[in-house]
Amino acid sequence: MESQSSYQMKVINGEFGYVLEDVPHLTDYIADLPTYPNPLRSNSAYSVVKQYFVHVDDSVPQKIVVHKDTPRGVHFRRAGPRQKVYFASDEVQACIVTCGGLCPGINTVIREIVHSLDYMYGVNEVLGIDGGFRGFYSKNTVTLTPKVTNDIHKRGGTILGTSRGGHDTMKIVDSIQDRGINQVYIIGGDGTQKGAAVIYEEIRRRNLKVAVAGIPKTIDNDIPVIDKSFGFDTAVEEAQRAINAAHVEALSAENGIGVVKLMGRYSGFIAMNATLASRDVDCCLIPESPFYVEGEGGLFEYIEKKLKENGHMVIVIAEGAGQELLAAESKNAKNEQDASGNKLLQDVGLWISHRIKDHFAKPPKMPITLKYIDPTYMIRAIPSNASDNVNCTLLAQSAVHGAMAGYTGFTVGLVNGRHTYVPFNRINERQNKVVITDRMWARLLSSTNQPSFLGPTDVEEAKTEHVPLTQMLDNGENRKDEKT
Ligand code: ATP
Ligand code: MG
Repeated sequence: MESQSSYQMKVINGEFGYVLEDVPHLTDYIADLPTYPNPLRSNSAYSVVKQYFVHVDDSVPQKIVVHKDTPRGVHFRRAGPRQKVYFASDEVQACIVTCGGLCPGINTVIREIVHSLDYMYGVNEVLGIDGGFRGFYSKNTVTLTPKVTNDIHKRGGTILGTSRGGHDTMKIVDSIQDRGINQVYIIGGDGTQKGAAVIYEEIRRRNLKVAVAGIPKTIDNDIPVIDKSFGFDTAVEEAQRAINAAHVEALSAENGIGVVKLMGRYSGFIAMNATLASRDVDCCLIPESPFYVEGEGGLFEYIEKKLKENGHMVIVIAEGAGQELLAAESKNAKNEQDASGNKLLQDVGLWISHRIKDHFAKPPKMPITLKYIDPTYMIRAIPSNASDNVNCTLLAQSAVHGAMAGYTGFTVGLVNGRHTYVPFNRINERQNKVVITDRMWARLLSSTNQPSFLGPTDVEEAKTEHVPLTQMLDNGENRKDEKT
């Protein structure tokens, strides 16, 4: 069962049969490439490590749960250093580009790619592309060295600058060719990884010896397959400060209500985890779980109950939640997009705050004091915390090991707690979402004690979102990966 595309899904037979979703290798389209012993083999620091090198056939199962048709399920290639590499150290001309919105940890990834290339592989030609994809053809590059990047992980943002739009595949690959670049490290979100995939395809079409590696950046944690994206832990941690402020404000006023809007255009992972971490939140609203405000069992009724019980309450709302309610109320709203073609969302935090105020101003009146906090840009701009810094370091090292070993067209990511190489097509096929029929959302509902706001048809729809594993293997579009 080998597909004709450049990505291969292989069935590994035998007693321990499994499906390997493999990543492309330069030798798939360039014959007789010379190999070199991995320089790490002569590095005394690594020679003491038992089994430091990853066997070329090592793979990582996506799920621990097994299924009768695929006893060992779907696997991905394990990341890490290989005995043989396909680039000589002095041959490598690497570049790094950052695209899309900001996220804590980007500078750490840049730093660690530069340091890993130099310290582990003796590569000291690394270029930084200025200002996102368009920087390949419209801006200057910067030289990145361990010295230049030494302290950048302590700063938020990206030292390379970033942008939306401006993706011109032909011009980008021309620029890669003209500059003699042979390793491209692309840090960015879902749009960026799609851009990386088409750059890889064009490079392959031109038969270039250029490895393309993606490092997924999404604060929303909405990338499928992988356990967690970098910056997510930092975002959840920083969100606690906003929730705490909302709680203090709410506690200090008569019928105080604190509303906090958190990131999550299509996936409510930040809102869900921040709520579970905080314990001060009485209601969490996310894009995956529809809700209604008026009438029996609606949000207003729940707020009134909470205020009567406790005299205050805190609501966390993800930016993509309730967009259908806003759209229904503002029929004249323009369908605006950003430079990359992403739909611009309306401010649901502001909308819900106004609706709550209007509701309680109507007879029978109830005096309330509502404070709305939107910490989005403050959260995105901070440097990554300790656990994200470790995560970023390992992702960067995995990307460097993979490119040096000749793999291409891959994204690095944690799967089932192990670092892996995931083919671009698998990362790009859909967005990961909170599954509201999963245990994690049930745990949240138990923690806040909020109503689910779901009608019977919503529950049925949510249940049909689950697709059995056999169907997932047949039809990539319907895949569903749980993150519990
Ligand atoms: P985030 O949404 O987390 O901020 P992102 O990577 O999704 O990050 P976008 O602005 O959507 O951010 O895309 C970043 C870059 O990727 C832009 O330069 C955009 O032109 C390019 N891009 C987006 N989608 C595609 C696509 N389908 N094909 C090629 N390039 C794309
Ligand atoms: Mg995006």
